[in-house]
Amino acid sequence: MIKTFMPEVKTAEELAGLQLEGLRWTVNHAYLGSSFYRKKLEMAGVRPDNIKSLEDIQRLPFTTASDLQEGYPFPLLSVPTDKVIRIHASSGTTGKRKVLCYTQKDIDDWTHFFARCYEMADLTREDRVQIAVGYGVWTAGISFQMGCERFGAMAIPAGPGNLDMQCQFLLDLESTVMCCTASMGLLMAEEVEKRGIRDRIKLRKMIFGSERSSDAMRARIKEILGLEHMFDIPGMTELYGPGTGLDCVHHRGIHYWADYYILEILDPETLEPVPPGETGEMVVTTLKKEAAPLIRYRTRDLTRLIPGPCPCGSILPRHDRLLGRSDDMFIFRAVNIYPGQIDHALSGISEIGSEYQIILDRKADGRDYMTLKVERARGLDGSIDAKLCKKIAAFVKKQILVSSDVEVVEYGSLPRSERKSRRVFDNREF
Ligand code: ZN
Repeated sequence: MIKTFMPEVKTAEELAGLQLEGLRWTVNHAYLGSSFYRKKLEMAGVRPDNIKSLEDIQRLPFTTASDLQEGYPFPLLSVPTDKVIRIHASSGTTGKRKVLCYTQKDIDDWTHFFARCYEMADLTREDRVQIAVGYGVWTAGISFQMGCERFGAMAIPAGPGNLDMQCQFLLDLESTVMCCTASMGLLMAEEVEKRGIRDRIKLRKMIFGSERSSDAMRARIKEILGLEHMFDIPGMTELYGPGTGLDCVHHRGIHYWADYYILEILDPETLEPVPPGETGEMVVTTLKKEAAPLIRYRTRDLTRLIPGPCPCGSILPRHDRLLGRSDDMFIFRAVNIYPGQIDHALSGISEIGSEYQIILDRKADGRDYMTLKVERARGLDGSIDAKLCKKIAAFVKKQILVSSDVEVVEYGSLPRSERKSRRVFDNREF
């Protein structure tokens, strides 16, 4: 029998049973091991033996990024420090850094489900995996490597950057898979093209971590390198790190490891579950994590669950790519809207550039109006504007179910920023 890293359970019911067992274990473990969690649970009036069904998760209190910062340097620690064998940290832009602890079992679990990522991406033990991501306290290249070794493929721990060396490895070591950020993937593709070595390398797949990548960028990488597949690997330090899910070869959303954590999608305002398939904030609860378990941790990341079975037949559920941060949400005519949704709708239109602005006004009639300022694509002239405006408004209406006025402006006329551009201009008075 071929070794597999997929869940041992075979049905959704068995998976739910495993989740309940893990949830009960986690609440009990955190209650006994962490004074922080014990206090929180007591304040919420919940004792470990109150958790009798998966629905009881809704009785549990939330954990937030500020809880992690307040607990610095070892937040949420639920085991004695002599059980901790490694830490990783996230380089937060504001406030204290978040440091997360791991026991030996946590590392073993992480390694196991990372091996599953490679299995999900349909690798074999013949594959050679060039790992061009960072190693260190902030980034977890080591998890890519340990997962690869556990899976049984050949790991090439190249680290990031150094395009010259990367190209040499592609040629000499005949790497078939590369793990990197999408920006690095594009640099590699252009370097391979520049050197004219496409026909001499064996690269077939790329696995992208840690940043959002536009469809246009991905299409360009795939085309230049002639790749068979590109995968998205999600991961945040709080939840182990990279490798907590992967899209399968059908690329219909990211399968996530529901035997290691429960994913709730909640309305960030009311904190109630959104209807199946609708966008909301990802809230995660771990099922096996020892050193720093998460109980209803608010990630602030937005996505939606993808209902129904995947053509690959896996029982592991799926979520969509990340649509942005809940902090960026605005409410327009009683609809919660995220800039990422507008971004997504606009990315389906080829006649426009990548820059846009969303302007919200309240007019004399008391109603709210949304204007989308969009750049025409480079090289096109204003004769298409009237038609283009109608097309954009129709696309947005169809996908987000709201009406908007559209204004098309010259290519290059909207401000650009190296950092995140400001997209939403809310002029409404409340
Ligand atoms: Zn699938």
